[in-house]
Parts: sequence; structure tokens; C-alpha cells
Amino acid sequence: MKYFPALVALCISTASMDQTDPKETEVWDPKPPVVTKTTATTSVPPSDAVILFDGKNLNQWTSVNKPGTPAMWTVAGGVLTVKKDAGNIETKQSFGDYQLHIEWKIPAKITGEGQGRGNSGLFLASIGRGDAGYELQIMDGWENPTYVNGQAGSIYKQTPPMVNASKKPGEWQSYDVLWTAPKFNADSTLKSPAYVTVFHNGVMIQNHTELKGPTVYIGKAEYKQAHGASPIKLQAHGDPSEPISFRNIWIRETK
Ligand code: MG
Repeated sequence: MKYFPALVALCISTASMDQTDPKETEVWDPKPPVVTKTTATTSVPPSDAVILFDGKNLNQWTSVNKPGTPAMWTVAGGVLTVKKDAGNIETKQSFGDYQLHIEWKIPAKITGEGQGRGNSGLFLASIGRGDAGYELQIMDGWENPTYVNGQAGSIYKQTPPMVNASKKPGEWQSYDVLWTAPKFNADSTLKSPAYVTVFHNGVMIQNHTELKGPTVYIGKAEYKQAHGASPIKLQAHGDPSEPISFRNIWIRETK
């Protein structure tokens, strides 16, 4: 029995090294205060913007699972809707630092709860297949409790939004994003991390937030892979809730 404390310490140490439990990186408190704003979320693109989606087609996008093939999400009535079995989609074009506008809507009749309620995501830079990249969370953030570093407006598993500016399901919402891409030295070591500022429905929720590395579901984020300009990616999350929609997506590269 006298060795018991040492054994406990050993077990804790081993558990943290294995990093097999995604709950280890969930943060539930404090909860970001709720802030409401009633102005319209739509935005007319500036004259120098690259239009990524104008309601007509997915010509600017490609499948992530099957590189080089068309993005197979649904376009109808000026709106883009996630097709979950088609997987993630990303832009054909790559971007460095940029300003981006995107509008999204959780279906009015959404089911599920927590991470399984309208989950999608905006990958600020896609650096590979699947969910590889830096995810700004998109999901139902209206009276839908989850860990705060995974709620709508979070840099997933890294930084909660400063406030919860979510609108109700069925209402259009917007993100306006200022992205400073990470920079790498010639030997692939990190020169400067990524930073992001985000306005959700016109309310600042991330202020020059430093990213610790690409998003990871389990364990701690870190920069392992040097990369340059990258596509923008949208997530087809595997949860069974109703698919969400997008409209009016544009971007201005700032360098
Ligand atoms: Mg997501």
C-alpha cells in the first residue's frame, strides 16, 4: 500500500502521454456570455473580392475526398447545402492571408444535441485530406450546451468565442474572418503562428487569436507540417442531424 501514491502518479503521467481521450481537451467553463444583434448578416462583396459562392454553382470548389473531381454538395435556390456523404469540399484556389465573408444557416427544424446538432466547420486553411487544417467551428450555438472550446465560433479545441453571438436555427448568420496564415522557415520550423480575428453576426468573437497549430480532436495542437497558401475547406460532419446551408461566400487576399 505504501507505493500507492507513486502508482497513481505513474498512471496519470501515462494517461496524459497516450492522449487517447478527446474529453481531455474539452473545456466547459466559463461559458461565453450571450450577445444578440438584430441587423442583417448579408454583405455585398467588395469590388476586388474573389467570389467563392454566389448562389449559382460550385465552380470554385472541389471534392476533398476525391481530389480533382467536382464538389458534389447541393446548389438550389441560391443556396449551398451540405451533402454529408460527399465529404468535405475545398476551394480550387489557395490563399495566404485574407479577409473572408461567409453566411450559414442551421435548419429551422434541427435535431440532435451538443456536437451532433448542425455541426459543420470552416477550415481557415486546408492542409490535407479529411479534417486536416484549422477549424473555425460552425454548428448550432443557440441554447445548445457543449464544451465551450467546441461551440460555434470557437477555434475548435483551442479557443472559445469571447461571447456567444449565435442566432436561432432558421436564421442566416455570418462570419467575417481576418486570417493571418502561419509562416515557416526554410528548414520547415515555425517562423510565426497563425492568427485569426472573427466577427460573428457583426460581433467580435475572436480578437487576433493565436492558433497553437492545426486542429486536433485528441491531444494538444502543435505545428508539425510546414505549408504555404492553402485552400478554404467546408466540413461535412458525420453527425446525423439535418445538413446546414451556406450562401454569399467571398474572399480578399490581403498579401
Ligand atoms: Mg465542425
